[in-house]
Amino acid sequence: MLSLNRFSLVPLIDCFAIQSSGFHHLQRLLLLRQFILHQAVAKLQSHRFEMSTLNPLRRMVSHVILDLDGTLLNTDGIVIEVLKKILLQYGKKWECNKAHRIVGKTPLEAAVAVIQDYELPCTVEEFISTTSPMFSNQWCNIKALPGASRLINHLSSKGVPFGLASNSPRSNIEAKISYHQGWKESFSCIVGGDEVENGKPSPDVFFEAATRMKVDPINCLVIEDSLPGVIAGKSAGMEVVAVPSLPKQLGFSNSADEVINSLLDLHLEKWGLPAFDDWIEDTLPIEPWQIGGPVVKGFGRGSKVLGIPTANLPAENFSGLLSEHASGVYFGWAGLSARGIYKMVMSIGWNPYFNNIEKTVEPWLLHEFSEDFYGEDLRLIVVGYIRPEVFERREIYIPVTLSTFIVY
Ligand code: ADP
Ligand code: MG
Repeated sequence: MLSLNRFSLVPLIDCFAIQSSGFHHLQRLLLLRQFILHQAVAKLQSHRFEMSTLNPLRRMVSHVILDLDGTLLNTDGIVIEVLKKILLQYGKKWECNKAHRIVGKTPLEAAVAVIQDYELPCTVEEFISTTSPMFSNQWCNIKALPGASRLINHLSSKGVPFGLASNSPRSNIEAKISYHQGWKESFSCIVGGDEVENGKPSPDVFFEAATRMKVDPINCLVIEDSLPGVIAGKSAGMEVVAVPSLPKQLGFSNSADEVINSLLDLHLEKWGLPAFDDWIEDTLPIEPWQIGGPVVKGFGRGSKVLGIPTANLPAENFSGLLSEHASGVYFGWAGLSARGIYKMVMSIGWNPYFNNIEKTVEPWLLHEFSEDFYGEDLRLIVVGYIRPEVFERREIYIPVTLSTFIVY
């Protein structure tokens, strides 16, 4: 029998737990289809809300300490590019599955790991002196992660003191944030890895930030993307929200007080801080962005049978664009030149069932079409965010983030 769970990561229905064994398969399909057609968006919104249910046991805080690379800045892309280039110079090829060896390490530790892993015939000093200028040339190209500027503006406007604590040397932090207007002046303090004795996972940078902000560490909330950073925050006795750059990284749920998918999912009121006030009826307006191309064959999971066909775009064309957007469920408008403009709901994400490590975009047009439209030009404009993807627990391999590595 067709297993419905096989399709549970199809956008829109991934949150509908279709596990009740008493239902006949076809009945389930019909019910699901009916349900989706009439209530999709409302249901999605309520699930998003459930996921943000307040936990009354959380400690209330007064100050926030943010990590930089991988938390506020999308450094992964440039790290991979630089490492690929340098490895090529030594006749080696970048291997995603070795990425975890350099995550969250200081530049020195990371250099040692890369030299060891790839058996590079150079000293650590030589490696660092070659890669440093390659990284710093790219700083101007590092984009803010989704929700980073929104968070900074929100904390500033609500008068919540917040600092920056990174393993990166202070001067490099300042150089990197200089490309992001208004950031530097907003931080109550900036602590670099070179200003304390030990980098993360030691709690030193966080203690130093608390000292400079004249606050007891227990009144601080740390927001971090890497495991060493999360461990550092917890060792400092702080509350910690982890925002892993890619889903399914192991170890976070045991260490952090909360794990969220992206900064868009941050609910500061859980920590006694002022809530964001830009959600409208459980949807979050975002800076509109566009994507488009010919409709191609998707994963062939038979979404259509469930009443939620998703018109796939060629993923290989969009890895750069999609890396700028958090995975999750969004909404907006879809245009098919020969047919018209329709409302659409879409997901951005990795499909763990197919082990794809490129993000894909899966739009469902809220309209009944009498035929398929493969090959037609589909234009999407995305205007709002609804909620993160919902994953079932399943062991899969997804390369880990490199974000805290770019500290040269
Ligand atoms: P695939 O795996 O090839 O994407 P789906 O079962 O998801 O297969 O079906 C997607 C196709 O269904 C789209 O490419 C499109 O041609 C067609 N289609 C029909 N109605 C819709 C709709 N409302 N939204 C999106 N695609 C639709
Ligand atoms: Mg599809």
